[in-house]
Amino acid sequence: MKTIGVIGLGIIGSAWAHRYSVAGQLVGTWNRSPKPAAPAWKASAVEVAAAADIIQIVVADPAAVESVLKAIIPALGPGKHVVQSSTIDPANSARFQALVKATGARYIECPFTGSKPAAEEGKTIFFMGGESTDIEAVLPVLKLISEVQFAIGTGEQASAIKLAMNMNLAVQMESLCESLMFARKAGIPDQTYFEVLAKNAGYSPLAKMKELKLRAGNFDPQFSVKHMHKDMRLAAGTAGCADYPLLEAARERLKLAEARGMGDADYCVLIRLLQEAD
Ligand code: NAP
Repeated sequence: MKTIGVIGLGIIGSAWAHRYSVAGQLVGTWNRSPKPAAPAWKASAVEVAAAADIIQIVVADPAAVESVLKAIIPALGPGKHVVQSSTIDPANSARFQALVKATGARYIECPFTGSKPAAEEGKTIFFMGGESTDIEAVLPVLKLISEVQFAIGTGEQASAIKLAMNMNLAVQMESLCESLMFARKAGIPDQTYFEVLAKNAGYSPLAKMKELKLRAGNFDPQFSVKHMHKDMRLAAGTAGCADYPLLEAARERLKLAEARGMGDADYCVLIRLLQEAD
């Protein structure tokens, strides 16, 4: 089996690195803010790329991915596979693919869903884009941390489906928060609200996942406001999507939450905007 290095040790990268390490496949990790206690820590991103067959990148946004790619290019070439798992947009996916392939290395766009709990349990779901031979080459290693791997098509399509999924989630979250607040104002206990919701056609895995956090007012991040806001910005910036009304509404709510200092909180903190407006 191929070896892997993880670049970006945030909420997700640190959970994946731990699992790869336990499986014995991890040969390097690096993070912009040093985390020398991380398994297989290296002093630089390029050292990770030199050590590993597969370099998995999971950082904040397109600008962060670009800076990592520029740093690791000297160590890329035939035999190396770059698995790009940060959520980015199709235009940047195409750009990064060209950058990596020019070195002779292979590029797989590989965004994911499942958030922190799935990452910790090895149940991430990947949306993979690229040549089928490249996808097959990295699959055995990615299976160490994932439950489902969809082959979507091109890299651009893989990044597009990730943004499409998050558009739906962002709108659902605002809708769930407004619905819960409406019930609270009528004096309905959260227990009753969620029991009824569980038997309603509007129940969703998102409501199930966030119920305890919303009830407890626990906004510790599984997926942060700043990244969901970034995703809505990227989606709205994609050709032809600038005036989707719900996308725009979700983007505005997330922008407001970030402006009010909630950028690092879980995006279910959108409920606090409604509470503050009371
Ligand atoms: P996170 O905890 O905020 O971590 C972000 C990582 O990016 C950190 O390691 C950070 O380094 C690094 N970074 C930021 N700017 C950088 C730069 N200019 N150069 C190099 N590294 C940089 O984020 P996360 O939740 O793990 O998410 C990572 C990616 O996965 C994001 O694209 C996010 O949208 C996507 N994603 C997340 C989830 C989720 O549920 N969390 C689900 C699906 C997709 P520092 O430590 O130095 O800041």
